[in-house]
Amino acid sequence: MTTCKTGAEHIKSLKDGRTVYIDGELVADVTQHPAFRNAVQSAAMLYDFQSRPENVELMTFKPEGSNRRINRAWQMPRNHAEMVQRRKALQAWAEQSCGFLGRSPDHLASALVGQRMGIEIFRKHGEERAKALADYFEEASRNDYFLTYVIINPQSERGKDWGEQAEDLVARIVDEDSGGITIRGAKMLGTSSIMANEVLVANLQPLKAGEEDLAFSCALPMNTKGLRVLSRKSYEAAAVSVFDNPISSRFDENDALMYFDDVKVPWGRVFVYRDPDMCRAQFHDTPGHAYQNYQAQIRLSVKIKFLIGLAHKITEAIGTTNMPPIREQLGYLAANVSMVNAMMAGMEIEGELRGEWWVPNKHYMYSAQVLTQDLYPRVIQTLRDLAGGALIMLPSSVRDFRNPELERIIGLTQRSAKMRPQEKVKFLKAAWDAIGSEFGSRHTQYEMFYAGARFVTTGHSYRTFDWDGATKLVDDLMAGYDLSDELSRTSH
Ligand SMILES: Cc1cc2nc3c(=O)[nH]c(=O)nc-3n(C[C@H](O)[C@H](O)[C@H](O)COP(=O)(O)OP(=O)(O)OC[C@H]3O[C@@H](n4cnc5c(N)ncnc54)[C@H](O)[C@@H]3O)c2cc1C
Repeated sequence: MTTCKTGAEHIKSLKDGRTVYIDGELVADVTQHPAFRNAVQSAAMLYDFQSRPENVELMTFKPEGSNRRINRAWQMPRNHAEMVQRRKALQAWAEQSCGFLGRSPDHLASALVGQRMGIEIFRKHGEERAKALADYFEEASRNDYFLTYVIINPQSERGKDWGEQAEDLVARIVDEDSGGITIRGAKMLGTSSIMANEVLVANLQPLKAGEEDLAFSCALPMNTKGLRVLSRKSYEAAAVSVFDNPISSRFDENDALMYFDDVKVPWGRVFVYRDPDMCRAQFHDTPGHAYQNYQAQIRLSVKIKFLIGLAHKITEAIGTTNMPPIREQLGYLAANVSMVNAMMAGMEIEGELRGEWWVPNKHYMYSAQVLTQDLYPRVIQTLRDLAGGALIMLPSSVRDFRNPELERIIGLTQRSAKMRPQEKVKFLKAAWDAIGSEFGSRHTQYEMFYAGARFVTTGHSYRTFDWDGATKLVDDLMAGYDLSDELSRTSH
């Protein structure tokens, strides 16, 4: 057995008979299908990266009692230094896709690390459910599973409560027996589900008393009978070539609706059972939500650095770098990139011990969420602004270079002081793929919504801020004077 999980092992594990549909058809093998095979290779690349001898220490650790190393995302830091060590592994993984694999395996590992840290919350809910969560953490981490999750309900009538939606829309418990529960209905939006081993099903959106049928959480292998995965359009399949679409052709992690068609879940995989408040507590009373979104900010720190790298090169490609207004825009972008990094460092250093575990600073994490969901579209707009038509005045595809007459004209027209014509085309196609293509547009939607709509993230920020500390400053100021003092002073 090799030191840790490899890409080949992961690919083999996906040939499991899962039920994935795209373009009206059932997919026989996600590892071979043109809609998914490159994304699968990218996931495999992450495991190959961690198993390279020079990366093993950076990327993996050996859990107690195990003879096999696993990714550091499963590590439960006991102090700030261990949190930083763990983060460096997550950053190194994010760099492999320039941050475009939003739901790389470290996202769910982080969610589960946080939930496992708060196991006492599950104990309050029930010893059996706590045991199921602890056992699952052990199984998933020891096997370095790639997990995804569906924790959001499909939008239908947002003005109604979840329990009032049409029957069979939102996944719910429809039956149970001594073996487990049966669930029916849908959840969105299983990013990376086509290339994950298992899915965590839960409820992040608030439920209320009376909605007990909806109030469950469980984990299932992706090939579970009755679990149907309805893929969105594949940007990978629509990519023209790696040269034309270097990012979307390889890092289209996919998003999919999951429909649970009377899926049976054994009790050993049920973590929350008919308890609306426990659905909230699973994420918010444990450090689960903090950890999963701290991972998201680590990944974003890489992606935003990549984007500013694109910005700088765009100005080089068209020769504007040294113009004062352009420098100002680049300087402003740089300040924003550093803000993302500084907030990440702040979450770590201003974290706190919860029992024996070090957890990131919650309010800093929520602040980062609020600010970056606004920041991302603004950064994209700045890149477009810096580029003008350069992103569009490009050969239709790599095939234009095969035609000598066209190649000659491309050579004459794609000029740049810093790049040869071919290099310029290659770079600008990468830039458009990242920010303007359908894939790039999906990424803007992702960064704006993966953590919840703005009213949700600002709500978290509101709830976790130190209002007492802030208002005390105001109260202390006002305690130093009053009306009667002032009247007596000014009466003379
Ligand atoms: C690319 C992508 C990938 C995703 N991947 C995953 C995944 O892997 N797993 C997963 O579980 N989820 C995933 N999601 C879902 C994501 O978590 C949700 O999109 C997000 O939580 C927002 O919920 P929603 O889509 O229902 O939007 P809504 O909450 O319905 O918001 C849509 C709009 O309606 C407004 N609105 C709705 N209700 C209210 C209200 N009560 N008050 C004020 N305004 C309101 C919002 O402000 C917003 O403008 C993904 C989403 C995207 C876009």
